[in-house]
Amino acid sequence: MDMTLYLVRLGEISLKGLNRDFFERKLKDNIKYKLRPYRNRFTKQKGRLFIEVDRDAPEDLVRRAISTSFGVVGFSQAIQCAKDMDAISEAAARLTSRPSFLSGTRTFKVETVRADKSFPLKSYDISGQLGHEILTAHEQLRVDVHQPDRILHVEIRDHAYLYASPESGPGGLPVGTAGRGMLMLSGGIDSPVAAYRMAKRGLRQEAVYFHAYPYTSDEAKEKVLALAKILSPYCSGITVHVVPFTDVQLHIKTHSMEEENTLLMRACMMKIANELARRRDCLAIVTGESLSQVASQTLESLAFTNSMSDLPVFRPLIGMDKQEIVQTSRMIGTYETSILPYEDCCTIFSPKHPLVRPDMQKLTESYARMHIEPLLSQAIEDSEMHAL
Ligand code: ATP
Ligand code: MG
Repeated sequence: MDMTLYLVRLGEISLKGLNRDFFERKLKDNIKYKLRPYRNRFTKQKGRLFIEVDRDAPEDLVRRAISTSFGVVGFSQAIQCAKDMDAISEAAARLTSRPSFLSGTRTFKVETVRADKSFPLKSYDISGQLGHEILTAHEQLRVDVHQPDRILHVEIRDHAYLYASPESGPGGLPVGTAGRGMLMLSGGIDSPVAAYRMAKRGLRQEAVYFHAYPYTSDEAKEKVLALAKILSPYCSGITVHVVPFTDVQLHIKTHSMEEENTLLMRACMMKIANELARRRDCLAIVTGESLSQVASQTLESLAFTNSMSDLPVFRPLIGMDKQEIVQTSRMIGTYETSILPYEDCCTIFSPKHPLVRPDMQKLTESYARMHIEPLLSQAIEDSEMHAL
């Protein structure tokens, strides 16, 4: 056979009762999409997904396709063999003689799951027999059932499956199982992490980026697109709307008091994000805001920005410290891009003394006085779309 087999363990989605099929199908579609350049075949069994991939597919690419797919709890390359003890012993010998099993290994154990209860040997006996055979073949090894260096997993199902040292997956729910949201994606550290957190709960996302050229450079836009590209495998693809925002910002600057600039700008962003969400069938807005991180993220400021949205606003980082956010951004690989030094539009138009405890009514009136809606509509019409 010229295919490599991967066994994927599913977590929360196997608890989803009657919806399980829907969740499993989404996960399969998401992984399949990432493997599309290569021949592949998927089969489902309770709590497991089996993926056969063309042996020519680079292992790194396959592992990345699986490890960035939410809904996966763990995975490993596996050997499939006939459901009889001779075949299982032979497969176990083959697997445990590989350098990937032996190198640095002093202790091991065998763990058997007997999903097919009609198999004549009990789990305990299968593990015992295989353990004994492995000890005989490799005299340097010892069994340690509590803290082994390696575990040989055996699963008796329609066939027997053997694998060692499974890798952890990202957990969560498959993207696309929770509907669609519009992410406000800036070039900073926070919003890419927000995207990751919501994707983990199954939300499919499109993104909007507000670009104030020439106050923000083309590099700033490229940086946001680069971030979206890094997020794309986690999000199972992401479409970015780049909205030209300069005219809106200049209008705010000339028609309002300096200390109100930032919040009025955030109000405009929220209005545009809502309209884009409506056009693109999204039922929520996602931002990278975290309580009290900056003046525009105090409770009063957030309450005002919120009042500009008809849709629920998801702020998955609301209770996270910057340190925790940075940690996640390193883990998902967006950090190095996020800290590239291109200005974002907020910093350039920032007042010296922004409001920290804005008065909702006053600000709402200031917003109305600007008569900015035609500019917002124009900005949406002039936006460009990038599918990444
Ligand atoms: P980030 O690190 O995500 O840029 P931040 O700490 O810089 O966040 P703000 O600049 O106040 O905080 O932005 C708060 C949130 O508003 C961002 O997380 C993002 O969701 C959204 N946002 C800010 N600027 C833009 C922009 N130019 N385009 C799209 N969304 C933006
Ligand atoms: Mg920012």
